Amino acid sequence: MTARVTVLGSGTSHGVPAIGCDCAVCRSNDPNDRRTRPSILIELPSSGDGRAYTRDVRSILVDTSTDLRNQALVHNVRRVDAILFTHTHADHVFGLDDVRRFNQMQKAPIPCYADRDTAGTLRQMFRYIFEQPEQRGGGLPQISLFHIAGPFTLGDVDIVPVRVMHGRLPVLGFRIGSFAYLTDCNHIPDESWPLLHGVRTVILDALRHRPHSTHFSVSEAIAVVQKLGAERAYFTHICHDLPHAETCAQLPRGIELAYDGLVLEIE
Ligand SMILES: [Zn+2]
Ligand SMILES: [Zn+2]
Ligand SMILES: [Zn+2]
Repeated sequence: MTARVTVLGSGTSHGVPAIGCDCAVCRSNDPNDRRTRPSILIELPSSGDGRAYTRDVRSILVDTSTDLRNQALVHNVRRVDAILFTHTHADHVFGLDDVRRFNQMQKAPIPCYADRDTAGTLRQMFRYIFEQPEQRGGGLPQISLFHIAGPFTLGDVDIVPVRVMHGRLPVLGFRIGSFAYLTDCNHIPDESWPLLHGVRTVILDALRHRPHSTHFSVSEAIAVVQKLGAERAYFTHICHDLPHAETCAQLPRGIELAYDGLVLEIE
């Protein structure tokens, strides 16, 4: 089965260009130097005999970035059947209110999957979603929050959560088939490596060249890709230190910077 991954956002939490910054990357005319907040969309082929199953999962969003509305408009995202959350940093969740539009179009709540801590923090951060409203205005996002305790299945695909460390914060990466999405991390614990065995395509955090306390640098990320033995790697969560074309030209074969709108076919 072939699925399609679209990088909706490849930028760090500030986005690129950063507000008020006059650096070369923030002033660049290269569209690949314009980076919204990190998120991907995974689209699966419609399952089975073409009947419209209510459980049919075709479109999985990873994180609801601050830029979700614009990302959906730019990349023509018309359907979200499930949402996977990596962690609750603002750049990964603050677009959650925008799922109201998918609720309207799909006439159904959207199942969301997060580990226990992330789910608990989401309930606190978005209290208005989970409590009875005092009055009904523009409507509330309708989501059903499920705890991830281990590998699970969505539609026809197996989702393998992969624990990675984002500084001291444990966050989730996700593996689907031979593809893994590992954003916001600077360490892969020993017990997670076997879960990544055989990954051929990876999207991996690489903030910038200089070291950072919670994100892989470019050289650290290259070392991870080499240890993993992945054929194709795309770096994400990129800040304004890295001009797209110039950086890509310096990266080893098979490794590139991701960019907003990058589409990958995965097995
Ligand atoms: Zn982030
Ligand atoms: Zn800048
Ligand atoms: Zn983060």
